[in-house]
Amino acid sequence: MKQASLAIDVGATKVAVGLIARDGQVLARIDVSSKVDSIQELNSSLAAAIASVMATDGVVVVGAGIGSAGPIDNAKGTINPVNIAAWVDFSLVDFVKDVSGLSSVRIIGDASALAYAEFVLGAGRGATNLMGIVVSTGIGGGVVLNGEFHVGRTGNAGYIGHAVVVKDGTLCACGQHGCVEAYASGTNMAKDFGVDKFEDVADAARKGDAKAVAAIEKGAAVLALGLLNAVALMDLDTIVVGGGVMSADDVYWPILVKCFEKEMKSLNFPGNVALKKATLGKDSGLVGAGLVGFISHEKGA
Ligand SMILES: [Zn+2]
Repeated sequence: MKQASLAIDVGATKVAVGLIARDGQVLARIDVSSKVDSIQELNSSLAAAIASVMATDGVVVVGAGIGSAGPIDNAKGTINPVNIAAWVDFSLVDFVKDVSGLSSVRIIGDASALAYAEFVLGAGRGATNLMGIVVSTGIGGGVVLNGEFHVGRTGNAGYIGHAVVVKDGTLCACGQHGCVEAYASGTNMAKDFGVDKFEDVADAARKGDAKAVAAIEKGAAVLALGLLNAVALMDLDTIVVGGGVMSADDVYWPILVKCFEKEMKSLNFPGNVALKKATLGKDSGLVGAGLVGFISHEKGA
């Protein structure tokens, strides 16, 4: 029988439940809406989806991985999703253990899931020290060090969106001033340009609007500074960039590359750091969570 891992990806409006093979293949998938009236309704839909994917023929499910927007708490198994109030401080790990009967269930940040999936199967293959980042409504990150998935003390290693790069800078949603995210998220680049969505900034930049280009350059320059610090602290060889903003990579990517190369000139470490586009697309969070389920099984945690 083929081994598989149960994968759960907690997104902004839905929870994806899947079954992932060791090679990253998605063997089954069900999306559960998180826009529900009660936690009971959400939990019963989730339990039904878990039971359904686990009943897939010809597989033995050995572990489970949960990916969620941060911050997470590794020890308590809790997530902190701003969009699903009922799940704040709810131990999703215990819940998944109960309904799946699996003892190996591990929780990680969604950006860590992307980083790990890209390291194993995507743009980060062959890297040894990698950071994967998600540039979207927020900014998240995850790291692989010395070829091993590195989650840190509480599971939030790579939380680059809230690294402070501008002293006394713009107020961030987290309460701190001058975080990377306060400037460089898609939402905040849009805010800087005076629109709601990053796609509108990208459209304007495509048409040659100088203010739109300047808003993207401002965000990308701050992100590049955050990445410079990450490279300086961890001596990375590879950075992989994914997330919603990369849907407009025709305008965003050349600007980010230019800003990154400019910052990296100051660093005297030998060799170039590869800045790459994520290649696994929208399933990367689900696949990464599934791959972490295999690690959980092997390490017995
Ligand atoms: Zn912050």
